Amino acid sequence: MLYIVPTPIGNLQDITLRALETLKSADAVLCEDTRRTQILLTHFGISKPTYRYNENDERSVERCLEALKSGKHCALVSDCGTPCISDPGWKLVRAARAAGIAITSLPGPSAVACALAGAGLTGGSFTFLGFLPRKAGKAAKLLTAAAQLKHPIVIYESPYRVVKMLELIAKTLGEQTPVVAARELSKVYEEYAQASAAELATQLSKKNKVQGEFVLIVDCFDSSSSTETTDDSTDF
Ligand code: SAM
Repeated sequence: MLYIVPTPIGNLQDITLRALETLKSADAVLCEDTRRTQILLTHFGISKPTYRYNENDERSVERCLEALKSGKHCALVSDCGTPCISDPGWKLVRAARAAGIAITSLPGPSAVACALAGAGLTGGSFTFLGFLPRKAGKAAKLLTAAAQLKHPIVIYESPYRVVKMLELIAKTLGEQTPVVAARELSKVYEEYAQASAAELATQLSKKNKVQGEFVLIVDCFDSSSSTETTDDSTDF
């Protein structure tokens, strides 16, 4: 059985009871980085064999699959949040599914849902782009296509590239494009900053050092298509 187990994106108290139970009862934990996962397991007093799962190495996927086929219960985790969401895991899940192995995916922390809920833009649809390609041309194409849907666009970005990304958003979608930058979610210095893409790029570039992980939410919401204003259904 393969368990997909989300882990906290910052605050360790965000682990679910079911995630803890699953980690405790698994035969093995398949990790993106065994050292990072070991810190988490030690924090919760869990002693379990950990194995590195490297998505870019076919042999690694095969080894994990063999363990599952031999009847082992394996918990798949990533360094933070939900495995397979801008993180390794999907190749193993696909292979396990093809091999007829039972899979269950536990609900739990993910930066995309957390940031979107806190941004207060729209409760409807959104477009998740995750990490955009490094090449500006490719990233701009994706941004332009996504913006046409008029839904908020959610982007993952590192502190090293966030200013460049905001500049690209300003250049591609317009300097005044509203953006919410969610930083260090669930951690001590959690912060939401809301301004135009150009303004946020300027603010962040003035800092000596930009720190923390970011989720950028580009507000492409078209208020004319809001269900809040057009919904004429009857209340209970
Ligand atoms: N699997 C994870 C998930 O479910 O959200 C995402 C992992 S991805 C490799 C890491 C990226 O997620 C970071 O670069 C950042 O964009 C976002 N992220 C993760 N933790 C975050 C946090 N505490 N605050 C803001 N963004 C975060």
